[in-house]
Amino acid sequence: MTGSRTYLDHNATTPLRPEARAAMLSALDLTGAASSVHGDGRAARKLIEAARHEVADLVGALAKNVIFCASATEANNLALSLDWQRPGKPTLQRMAVSSVEHASVLNGTRAPTVQIDHLPVDAQGLVVIPALDAMLSDWRERGGTGLVSVMLANNETGVVQPVAEIAARVHEAGSLLHCDAAQAAGKIACNINDIGADLLTLSSHKLGGPLGAGALVLASDTLHQPNALIRGGGQEKGLRAGTENVPALAGFGAAARAAAQGLDSYGATILALRSHLEAALREASPDIVLFGEGVQRLPNTLNFAEPGMMAETALIALDLEGISVSSGSACSSGKVKVSHVLTAMGVVPALAGCALRVSLGRESTIQEIEFFAAAWKRLRKNLHDRRNRAA
Ligand code: PLP
Repeated sequence: MTGSRTYLDHNATTPLRPEARAAMLSALDLTGAASSVHGDGRAARKLIEAARHEVADLVGALAKNVIFCASATEANNLALSLDWQRPGKPTLQRMAVSSVEHASVLNGTRAPTVQIDHLPVDAQGLVVIPALDAMLSDWRERGGTGLVSVMLANNETGVVQPVAEIAARVHEAGSLLHCDAAQAAGKIACNINDIGADLLTLSSHKLGGPLGAGALVLASDTLHQPNALIRGGGQEKGLRAGTENVPALAGFGAAARAAAQGLDSYGATILALRSHLEAALREASPDIVLFGEGVQRLPNTLNFAEPGMMAETALIALDLEGISVSSGSACSSGKVKVSHVLTAMGVVPALAGCALRVSLGRESTIQEIEFFAAAWKRLRKNLHDRRNRAA
C-alpha cells in the first residue's frame, strides 16, 4: 500500500528502498562536483565510484564497464548505435530489434538511415528463433554484421526471453547483442556473462533506486563507442556528458546492492502472491486470458484480459477504489492505446483492449491481492448486471 491506496503498478516504478533513501540523504550533504580535483570533488567521486561497483556487482560486470546515464531510455539510445568498434571485427551495418521492445528501443536508434529489422514473437511473446536465424543468415549472405537488441523481460507481460540462446546465435554470426534488462534486474538473476549480452541496460527506479538514473553496462572494455550520446565535459567515458547527479547515483548503487542481496527471497514470496491472484481471478472469470502464461515470466507480473471488460473502464473503476494498475505500458503512454506487445503476440485488438497489467512489488501483501480480487469481482458483476438490464 502507498498511503491509503493499493499500488500494484511496480513495473511502472517501484518505491525507493530505505537503503537508497539513506544513501541519497547523505549524498545530498556533499557539495563537490565529481570532476573537481579538490577534496570535496574527490568525496563526490568516491560515492559515484562506489555506486559503479555496486551496480556492476548486480550484473556480474566490471565497474569500469558501467556507463551511468539519467535513465534506461538514455542507456538504450546510447546502445543503439552502429558505431561500436570491436578489435579485429568489421563495422556493424545492420540493426534488428524484437517487436516487443520498449519504445526507447523501438524508437531509440542512433542510425536513423539504416532500415531496422523487426524480429517477430510467437503467441507467448517469445522471439521466433528460426526468424532470427533467417535474418542472421540474410545478413551473412550480404556480407554484413549488425546490432541485435532483445530485452530480458517484457515490461507489459513479464515474459522472459531466452537471451543466452539468442546471444549465442548472434555471436556465431559475428554480430553484437544489446539486452534491455530494465525490468528484469532486481527481479530475476541478470548476470551479463550468463546472459551473453555485449551491452546491458539498467534502470534505477525499477529496482528501488531513485528516478533519473540508469546505466549501460558493457561486457568488455574492448568495445569502444566514438559517438557520444551527450557531448560536453567528457564524463562517463566521454559518452554521456554533464555533471554527475551524485545523490541519484548513490541511491542507484545502494538499491542495486539491496536488490542483489534480496533476490532469492523476492522471487519465491512474490510468485506465491501472484499465483494467489491468478487463482482468484480464474475463479471469478472462467474465460479470463493470462498473457504469456505458458512461458517463464517475471514473478511479479500478470497481464490478463476478460473479453468484453474494456481496460480503460476497468482502470478508471479500480482507480476510484484506490487501486493503481496499468493497461499497456504506462511509461510510454499515459493514454490508452492497443499494446504493440500484445499485437505482436497476435492478440486481436478487441481482446488486447481489455488487457490489464498488475505488477507486484516488495511491499505487496496478501491483503492487497484480496482487495484487488474483490474489486475485480464487483466490477465484473456490475458489468454483467448492466448487460443483463440492457438485454
Ligand atoms: N526498458 C523497459 C523494458 C522499460 O520497462 C522501461 C520503462 O518502463 C524503460 C526501458 C525506460 O526506463 P526509464 O524510465 O529508466 O527511462
